[in-house]
Amino acid sequence: MTQQRRIIFDVIRNSMRHMTAEQIYLEAKQILPSIAMGTVYRNLGLMSDAGEILRIEMAGQPDHFDKTVSPHHHCLCPHCGEVSDAPIPDLTEHLQQILGSPVESYDLTLRILCDDCRAKTMQ
Ligand SMILES: [Zn+2]
Ligand SMILES: [Zn+2]
Repeated sequence: MTQQRRIIFDVIRNSMRHMTAEQIYLEAKQILPSIAMGTVYRNLGLMSDAGEILRIEMAGQPDHFDKTVSPHHHCLCPHCGEVSDAPIPDLTEHLQQILGSPVESYDLTLRILCDDCRAKTMQ
C-alpha cells in the first residue's frame, strides 16, 4: 500500500462521517500537503473496487465513502446533504416474501433531516 493510499484509508477509517472525495482530500491534505485531488480520486476508486471501503452512490449527490463495507442502508439529509447510517435491518427476506421471487439487490435511501438540521428547525 502506498503512503498516499494509507493516509486516505486512515482518513476514512478515523472519521465518524460518510465523506465525499472532496472532504477526504481536504483532510488528507492536512497530513500530506503535497497530495493531489486526482490521487485521492484514483485511490478511492481502487479501494472501493478492492472492497476496502464502500462507495455510496445517490442520484443528485456526490459519491460518499464509508468504512463500513457490509451492506447497510443510508439516510440522506435533504437539507445539508449529510449521509448517515440508517439503523434498519436487511429487508431482502421480507421483500422476497411479498414479491414471491428472489431479490438480487435493492436500493433504499431514507430522506430525513440529520440531527443538526433537526436541532436547528426546533429552535
Ligand atoms: Zn442536515
Ligand atoms: Zn454507511
